[in-house]
Amino acid sequence: MSKPVLVIGAGPVGLTMAAELARYGTPVRIIDRLPARTTQSRALAVWPRTLELLDAAGCADAFRATGLRADAVSLHAGNSTLARIPFGTIASPFNYLLMIAQSETERLLEEHLGTFGTPVERGTELTDFVDRDDSVSCTLRHAGGRIETLEAAWLIGCDGAHSFVRGRLGMAFEGDTLPMGFVIADVHVAGLAVPPDEPAIFWHPDGAVMFFPITQGRYRIIADLGSVPLHRPDLGEMQAIVDRRGPGGIILSNPVWLSDFGVNERKVRNYRRGRVFLAGDAAHIHSPAGGQGMNMGMQDAFNLAWKLALVERQDASPRLLNSYSSERSGVARQILSDSRRMTTIVLLRSHLAQRVRNFTVKQGFRIPVVRRAIANRLSGILIGYPDSPLNMGSARGLRGPGPGQRLVSRCSSKQGNRPPRFVLAARDSAEARAMIARHPTLLMPEPCLPPDENGIWLIRPDGYVAAAAKCGNWTVIDMALNGYGRPSKHQGL
Ligand SMILES: Cc1cc2nc3c(=O)[nH]c(=O)nc-3n(C[C@H](O)[C@H](O)[C@H](O)COP(=O)(O)OP(=O)(O)OC[C@H]3O[C@@H](n4cnc5c(N)ncnc54)[C@H](O)[C@@H]3O)c2cc1C
Repeated sequence: MSKPVLVIGAGPVGLTMAAELARYGTPVRIIDRLPARTTQSRALAVWPRTLELLDAAGCADAFRATGLRADAVSLHAGNSTLARIPFGTIASPFNYLLMIAQSETERLLEEHLGTFGTPVERGTELTDFVDRDDSVSCTLRHAGGRIETLEAAWLIGCDGAHSFVRGRLGMAFEGDTLPMGFVIADVHVAGLAVPPDEPAIFWHPDGAVMFFPITQGRYRIIADLGSVPLHRPDLGEMQAIVDRRGPGGIILSNPVWLSDFGVNERKVRNYRRGRVFLAGDAAHIHSPAGGQGMNMGMQDAFNLAWKLALVERQDASPRLLNSYSSERSGVARQILSDSRRMTTIVLLRSHLAQRVRNFTVKQGFRIPVVRRAIANRLSGILIGYPDSPLNMGSARGLRGPGPGQRLVSRCSSKQGNRPPRFVLAARDSAEARAMIARHPTLLMPEPCLPPDENGIWLIRPDGYVAAAAKCGNWTVIDMALNGYGRPSKHQGL
């Protein structure tokens, strides 16, 4: 029996990681030190790119059936609507925002993981590990105190913002704690005059108050505290904030969660050391403005799982794994800077700056192309890996995405439950068939329709273009596949 990959943490990121590895047939164990799943709603927003990847994994339908579909977000100042950003223009089969409590996301992911026969081992804590080059020796403490020593093929720390794995590796979590605080409430809301499934943000000279629908009539409310220190609010305080900063006439009741949070913006430089990886909040944290944190973490998992699965099967060289940190670190840098910009705009303090902001937003967001650009940016569909070491060739002169860009096609989105494979998107021809015959362990057995019949695309299992070339230029595709392919005896990590 081969050594399993050990995933630490059964939050949304660890569950995604374990489910993807299990779907690809890689032996995996997942542990969490808590005895039960979280009941807190925390991350609510699941964006289109994450839904596309969940669809490829085979569990988007369950999410769709459980969450609340939001078709737009609106910005207001008192009773005046400054802007409404519709999501219907997003170029994705999932052109909406799915509102779903993190506790539900975790439940659905755990059920999905269970379909592969992999349980979450709860009440089990990682207390130590040593990377021994050909395995990682891990010490686990089970509920009741039993100690287990496990030789894992790889260790993946999805153990959250206070990551034990990151700390044990001595990796710096570089960045800042921002001088701002928020209060948060999950409550019943009556009298909010915006469509019931639409997030709404109200700007006021004192600060912002934001309403995010969770289920019919129930909302997450977030408000910044200004210079007031962090503290857990009560319902009366939330009502007073909503009365002052909102449009008026809103009644809050039945709170199920009242809390506060500060904002950190931090990331590690490298997501990997030897046989140990970091993913999710263990590798990056930032302001919840834009609702990107969990989405980014789950996409870390989608990025790493197929690479590890191919390497574990010895269908690919371990060098493939080097691309994980550079690809995902670039995405985190971008999202951290976007979320800082968004937070700064939301929390402007000077009244003059607030007036300029409100005017600019009202005028600028009248332009459809601006609304579309913002919606696309939030959706995650523009995320790509333009500087990935895996990229080969170019799509210049072709109608279709270039290396590192996302390509949603029917064949790349439905790989099923089997080892990960690249898709060859090319006209069905003797050359295409010969290429598949040369790389049977890396390529899907059938070519798929290309976006432009004058070109050839090699699509990664996570739906990004690995290589592109004009028709006839098969060398580019061959070189790319040879580059990822099986290790020679002399290749190390
Ligand atoms: C108020 C709030 C609102 C948010 N809203 C959004 C949003 O709308 N959209 C969005 O994308 N993100 C949002 N986020 C961020 C989101 O909640 C996090 O990004 C997400 O939870 C990270 O998931 P994770 O799996 O990386 O870590 P976590 O969810 O923190 O899970 C880590 C797990 O590891 C376990 N663990 C830790 N150490 C060990 C150990 N040594 N051994 C075993 N187990 C261990 C823990 O018990 C825990 O279950 C929000 C966050 C907050 C606080």
